[in-house]
Amino acid sequence: MSLLEKTGVQLMINVGTCPNCQEVVPFEPTEKEHIYTCPACKEKAKQYVNGKILYTKIIWDLEDDKRQD
Ligand SMILES: [Zn+2]
Repeated sequence: MSLLEKTGVQLMINVGTCPNCQEVVPFEPTEKEHIYTCPACKEKAKQYVNGKILYTKIIWDLEDDKRQD
């Protein structure tokens, strides 16, 4: 995969409206699937794909954040 292709794919997938600061930002992926970091406010957001891609605030109580595999 070329660098140009890889960069283009990431920009296409990860741009969205941050639920925390309401800015349209290129989200940065984290080690957790569907969890992204906003480069503007540094808060994390959860990506939903439901016809279109949405980002929502994370409710950590509903996640298995502390579970170790
Ligand atoms: Zn933000």
